[in-house]
Amino acid sequence: MSTQIRGKVNPLDPIGIDDLLSAEEIAIRDTVAQLVKDRIQPNVADWYEAGALPEVRELAKELGSIGVLGMHLTGYDCAGMSAVAYGLACLELEACDSGIRSLVSVQGSLAMFAIWNWGSEEQKQQWLPRMARGEAIGCFGLTEPDYGSDPAGMITRARRDGSDWILDGRKMWITNGTVADVAVVWAKTDDGIRGFVVPTTTPGFSAPEIKHKGSLRASVTSELVLDGVRLPADAVFPEVIGLRGPLSCLNEARYGIVWGSMGAARSAFQTALEYSKSRIQFDRPLAGFQLTQEKLANMSLELSKGTLLSQQVSYGKLNNTREAIDICRTARTILGANGISYEYPIMRHMNNLESVLTYEGTPEMHALVIGQALTGEAAFR
Ligand SMILES: Cc1cc2nc3c(=O)[nH]c(=O)nc-3n(C[C@H](O)[C@H](O)[C@H](O)COP(=O)(O)OP(=O)(O)OC[C@H]3O[C@@H](n4cnc5c(N)ncnc54)[C@H](O)[C@@H]3O)c2cc1C
Repeated sequence: MSTQIRGKVNPLDPIGIDDLLSAEEIAIRDTVAQLVKDRIQPNVADWYEAGALPEVRELAKELGSIGVLGMHLTGYDCAGMSAVAYGLACLELEACDSGIRSLVSVQGSLAMFAIWNWGSEEQKQQWLPRMARGEAIGCFGLTEPDYGSDPAGMITRARRDGSDWILDGRKMWITNGTVADVAVVWAKTDDGIRGFVVPTTTPGFSAPEIKHKGSLRASVTSELVLDGVRLPADAVFPEVIGLRGPLSCLNEARYGIVWGSMGAARSAFQTALEYSKSRIQFDRPLAGFQLTQEKLANMSLELSKGTLLSQQVSYGKLNNTREAIDICRTARTILGANGISYEYPIMRHMNNLESVLTYEGTPEMHALVIGQALTGEAAFR
């Protein structure tokens, strides 16, 4: 896309952000957008309403075939693309549905990055090529029923039994859990928090799906149950001890969210813009009323600002998730009653973004992290 279309501003890129992208980045974005258009967009509203992701295994392989799983990682059959290309892919995926972007983020930035960055050579060889191709699905278990924002308090324990490890505990709200082939599980040991690579066929491991969600319904969310899960000595990440292990992975995934949330917002904005041009009230299109134009102008402003902010993880996560929800809410008003219908994607995006706002660090936690950086005072402990 270029900034100007036949002398007019391109409403999806009014300040010419595309001009900052390389030809390769644009090509990658277009490839992702095409897969989304052909394969996911026609089904996603039905999946959302059904509260299921029925074709997740096939979908993972298709996403793997265009190289988006662990796409910013190098080696082990990963595509080794730029951070911006990864961000653009997340944006296109989340313009379709946050649940689909979550599948890709958890696979690439949480499960694969954890193994890629902290795993032994054997762990990398065993899992990463299959995960990059979408033949194996991964999940990342940090959150517990009683410890979310404060994961240092986790109860899940790993203890030695001879050279083996035995894991006991519960994880909660784990994306991809029920369909995963491998779980990266963080647990307390005598030395501190450590990460374990757990094949989900290991006896004692189960992952019941969490149902009745009002958000991220086209995404698998699960509890992980670890009842005496026996693992060999080499199942542990060899070096990393403490929260810097899982927190390093969360930073990777937050980067995708910062871009992705702007995708959901773009979809809502585009829907409202098109609707406003065709819906006639008081003998004029809604687009002709000043109040509608003010809404559209403010949405467009926040979209462009959020996209430009996408390199800043904590600022971006805090700003873009809350602005994306705000854009959806405003877009919804332009559609009036139609805005609440799942015939249009806005309400689905809005509901999804409630999860995106909360996971990978709530807005309160990101505000406190920024506050700590500004003042030197940690207000969250
Ligand atoms: C759909 C979905 C998918 C998820 N996927 C994963 C996953 O794949 N892996 C994973 O490990 N986790 C996952 N999560 C969990 C997510 O990361 C947690 O929900 C999140 O960290 C918040 O934890 P909590 O829900 O326990 O809320 P809590 O920590 O209980 O927080 C509740 C409220 O209190 C506020 N609060 C907490 N502490 C403070 C403080 N010190 N000062 C001020 N306010 C505070 C919070 O900001 C929040 O508003 C997922 C969650 C959802 C909804």
